[in-house]
Amino acid sequence: MDKKALFKLGYGLYVLTAQSDGKDNGCIVNTVLQVTSDPSVVGVITVNKQNFTHDMIMKSKKFNLSVLTTETPFAVFENFGYQSGKTADKLAGYTGVARSENGLVYLSDYTGAYLSGEVTGTFDFGSHTMFKAEITAGEVLGAADSLTYAYYQQHIKPKPQDSAKKGGWRCNICGYVYEGDPLPADFICPICKHGASDFTKIT
Ligand code: FE
Repeated sequence: MDKKALFKLGYGLYVLTAQSDGKDNGCIVNTVLQVTSDPSVVGVITVNKQNFTHDMIMKSKKFNLSVLTTETPFAVFENFGYQSGKTADKLAGYTGVARSENGLVYLSDYTGAYLSGEVTGTFDFGSHTMFKAEITAGEVLGAADSLTYAYYQQHIKPKPQDSAKKGGWRCNICGYVYEGDPLPADFICPICKHGASDFTKIT
């Protein structure tokens, strides 16, 4: 199967944040669905197991979801996409976050709205877990349009000629470029969620 075909599907881009043992963490996810709004608001999110944020949600059963806007700079993807967060502290020195009532951080900048979720079910799909959650809080933060994958590709992602000069590793699925070498073994593509095995070294 050509996995690139999956990216003809529509996706959004979101920052998922969680906390356990007093540590905050976050990652980029692209699969979020509202399932019902009555009697309670239920949603599902799908998270790559290699993200440490995934483990935190398994433990704490809570998360925040920040809906990114078209104003989001590439630096946000770099910050939340580059490592699993097991050893790195992605929130240390990161400005543009606030804390919601559930105690978790959300992005206050580049975010059209955030939602707080409490997990009521988990579904194992091999590389990913799908979390079913009750949405317990939500706040609109701005009027800017929500970021789609297509918009990211056209307007935010660095142009291929710029990144080719710098070298690194390119995601076979979505074209995301990691500007460094070696590629960390626990690297998760911040855009399409595929792991290090789906990257090719730029030569
Ligand atoms: Fe990718």
